Amino acid sequence: MDPTTWAAVDDYLAPLTQEDEVLRAANARAREEGLPPIQVSAPQGRMLQLIAQIHGARRALEIGTLAGYSTIWLARGLSGPQPHLTTLERDPHHAEVARANIDAAGLGDVVEVRVGAAVETLAELEASGTEPFDLVFVDADKPSNTRYLDAALRLVRPGAVIVVDNVVRQGALADVGSTDERVRGSREVVERVASDPRLSATVLQTVGSKGYDGFMLVRVDEDEGPDAL
Ligand code: SAM
Repeated sequence: MDPTTWAAVDDYLAPLTQEDEVLRAANARAREEGLPPIQVSAPQGRMLQLIAQIHGARRALEIGTLAGYSTIWLARGLSGPQPHLTTLERDPHHAEVARANIDAAGLGDVVEVRVGAAVETLAELEASGTEPFDLVFVDADKPSNTRYLDAALRLVRPGAVIVVDNVVRQGALADVGSTDERVRGSREVVERVASDPRLSATVLQTVGSKGYDGFMLVRVDEDEGPDAL
């Protein structure tokens, strides 16, 4: 098996995953604006939408917007009264492109793009006493993954779902001696989750047009005991 095969399978799956013209245009605008092509693939975006739908999520938080491609998939999966998604992006140009894409998708009333370093915007969200989130997607600078997880845990309701992207890193996740800060960030967040009895989680390894990687899926327990969140 090789990456060409993985990408061919993603292409074959197009009728299933249903990336539409709005999403294709979002990626085209990102390319035209010179943003790096590091957004999730269509099958991954579809999975995020399905997780939101299956979970019945109404309020979502995304850390790492880029051009808003995953944002649109996620926002489309939200349901209930006044669905809302807050997405955090450090780069003002990325945020500007994302806003244009989100508006073009007809989601301007659902999605708020906040510009700034996520550690700071997360602290602002916490200080503002924002309504708890049902679903969080972590996809920004990988060395900060554990800080983002810890902040997310203060911002979600019991029973919430958290997805942390790109933790497998071509298998380097299993490399105890890795000096790559992104690998160390991935190992740290996986070990942090594994050691927390309030969290249930798995990591799935994936291949596709984005190569060999994987994501962590976390559920925050709903227990009402003294150790509950
Ligand atoms: N989730 C997007 C998608 O799939 O369409 C891709 C996000 S891309 C992998 C990561 C984004 O996180 C980049 O746009 C980058 O500028 C942003 N980022 C990196 N460090 C950040 C930080 N400290 N705070 C907020 N955003 C950050």
